[in-house]
Formats: sequence, C-alpha cells, structure tokens
Amino acid sequence: MIPVSEAIQIVLRRARKLEVESVALGDAMGRVLAEDIIADSDLPPFDRAQMDGYAVRAADLAKTPARLRIVGESAAGAGWHQEMKTGEAVRIMTGAPVPAGADAVQQVELTREIDGAEFVEILESVEAGRSIVKQAAEIKSGETVLRAGEDINAAMIATLASFGYAQVKVGRRPRVAVMATGSELVDVDQKPGLDQIRDSNNYTITAYATLAGASVERWPLAGDDTGELKKQIKQAAETSDVLITSGGVSMGVYDFMKPALKELGAEIFFERVALRPGKPTVFARVGETLIFGLPGNPVSVAATFNLFARAALRKMQGAKQTDLIEETAVLARAVKGSADRESYLPAILSTDERGTLLAEPLKWGGSSDFVAFARATGLIDVPRGLGVLEAGGRVRVVRLP
Ligand code: AMP
Ligand code: MG
Repeated sequence: MIPVSEAIQIVLRRARKLEVESVALGDAMGRVLAEDIIADSDLPPFDRAQMDGYAVRAADLAKTPARLRIVGESAAGAGWHQEMKTGEAVRIMTGAPVPAGADAVQQVELTREIDGAEFVEILESVEAGRSIVKQAAEIKSGETVLRAGEDINAAMIATLASFGYAQVKVGRRPRVAVMATGSELVDVDQKPGLDQIRDSNNYTITAYATLAGASVERWPLAGDDTGELKKQIKQAAETSDVLITSGGVSMGVYDFMKPALKELGAEIFFERVALRPGKPTVFARVGETLIFGLPGNPVSVAATFNLFARAALRKMQGAKQTDLIEETAVLARAVKGSADRESYLPAILSTDERGTLLAEPLKWGGSSDFVAFARATGLIDVPRGLGVLEAGGRVRVVRLP
C-alpha cells in the first residue's frame, strides 16, 4: 500500500500535457488557458468620463457658480476632438472621451444650462481629476492579464473579448473512455432481474470527468470475464487518452481487472493505496493510454476519481491547479479514522453564522451508500492512525467539484 499523496504524485508524473488547440471565444468557457493573455490596448483606451455632466477645467471653477461657454458634446462612441480652452465646457456622457484641455467632469446634477443652452452654470467646484478614469489606469497595453494554466471562467470572458481574443488557445480535452465492469450490471434503462443492479458508475464517472474538462465516451458494460475485459480494454485504449473502469479490482474470485491488465502487458504503477474508501485502486498504462481501475462501490468511485483521475485530466489540459480545493473546517460530529489508511469521508460542508466552515460527516452505511452520498459536497481527510476525531476539532477537507 502506498500513501495517497504518493499515489497522486505518481499520477501527476505519468499524466502528460496534451496538445494545444484553438477554440472560438464562445466555446472557451471552462477550458484551460494555454497562452498568456496580453492587453492589446490601454484600459481605458482614453481618458474616460465616469459621469454624465460637463468636462471642465477645475481652475475655472475657483468661484461658483461659474458660467462657461458650451463648445461641444462628447458622447460614447462620438468624442469631441478639439482643444477645450479656459472658460469653456463640453457636455459629456458616461464612457465618453474627455477632451484635451479638460481636467475634470462635473456631474450634471450640479449644473444648469442657461442662455438657450449656449452657456452652462456650474454650481459647485471640483478638484482636478474628478470623475475621470485616466487612460491606462486599469491596464497598460502589453501587460499580461491572464496566464496559461488558469481555468477560463465567466468572469474572464470580458477580458478575453476586450483584448480581441476571438480565438483562444486552450489545452485539448482528454478523450476518456468509461467502462463499468461486473456481471451483475444492467444499463439504466433496464429493469434489474434476479441478482442484478443498475450501473451507476459509468454515469458518475462521466459526470465528474466532464466537469474536469474531458470528452467522454461510455463503453458497453463488461462482464466478469478476463477475455471480455481484455478485448474491451484493448479496444478502448486504442481510441482514448484515458480509460476509467470501475469494479473488479478487489480480492474476490471474480475480480479480473488486474489479471486482464497484466495479460495485456500493462505497466502497473500502483494497485493498492492506503485509502478508505478506495484501497484497491489501480493505476496503469497500456501503450500511451492511462488506465484508472477504480473500485466498484459508487462512493469509492466518487472519492478515487476525484483524488486521482481528476488530477490526471487536469494536468493533461495544462491546468496549474490539479488538486481539489482544500480548506480547514470544524467537525460537526465525531468521525473515526483507520489504523492503516488515510480516510476521505463524505461530508456536507456549510458555514455557520460566525463564518466558520463546518464539516458534517454523512451518516452513511459504507462505501455503497450512494443515496447518502448524493448530498455530499466535500470529503473529510482523516490521517491514518488517528482513531476518533471529536466534534469541534479542526480537519482538512477537500471540495467535491
Ligand atoms: P467490485 O469492486 O466489483 O467488487 O464491486 C463492489 C460493489 O460495487 C458491488 O456491490 C457491486 O455490485 C457494486 N458495483 C460495481 N460496479 C458498479 C456499477 N457500475 N454501478 C453500481 N454499483 C456497482
Ligand atoms: Mg465486481
């Protein structure tokens, strides 16, 4: 058995960055940036008015009310491109360029047009600079604004658009094949017969892998038969970057994943992790295809996918952050650790009225209890050999995606 942290390191070492591809900005959401994003203009691109009102020279307003001649108008998209002189004002709108010669904007509420709109009376003085955002105050042309390896989220789209990234370079999505194994399994649209259950793992893994940025193909269910497994693994490996199986890795007499992998000549990087749930997790390679052989229990699948397979998928896309987001929480109820394994126990994370993050361990019936797991938002990390962790203690938690 190897420690969880070592298993994650092995996964990250074996997962290689895939090629870079270009996608249209409209398709870039959720992808991993593969280039630094550079500002191709100053922001703002010109001195910009922050208010509707009048562009003025602050020095002209030493005594108020002050009477200034209206010499023009600057609107967003249609500026006034002459020099504004002493004693003059230019009517200006929010977002419009401030004319040369002006050094402040007085808001319209503190002004009054007079003499048939030929003049404006400014009722209060302003200091120079008021209500103007200077050119390049936010960003200078040539500055790096986002970096390769960051996840493109909705908040970044305006930045990409504003600097003209109609196409964005991103890491290619890993092609993932998902294959549930077990002779008891039937597909979701079937009524399970005697001794059968519906497959859920293929759908769980598809969901998490999609969240991790992969493009996923579900393979037919494979029975507990070494020959059948070998055939399907070989085929799936030929057309995918990563194959994720579930089931058949424990010590039972019908657990044929490891024999099948070995007969295919797979390199096995690890096959037992000091983890609860998820001890029999296998990580291997056939040709260039990485293979994760996850245990069959649905809760083990969720934990082991997110600890191991997700890290590989993220690394392959070039993501800087490959680990789950981790936080420190206060235990809402006592949990029991394991003598020889690190535990990752499903929990509901919430914040109390004082802003403290609470981790409430699920009352669950074990790693098969996927109904209880349906409410989980995180995993509580209990180091091995710790015995009981009492309520109120601090624990490390990781967020489930
Ligand atoms: P195994 O690791 O193959 O021994 O499976 C452990 C447990 O998980 C057994 O109770 C299986 O019936 C269950 N199981 C295995 N594969 C799946 C699956 N695809 N969907 C739901 N449950 C599964
Ligand atoms: Mg099985």
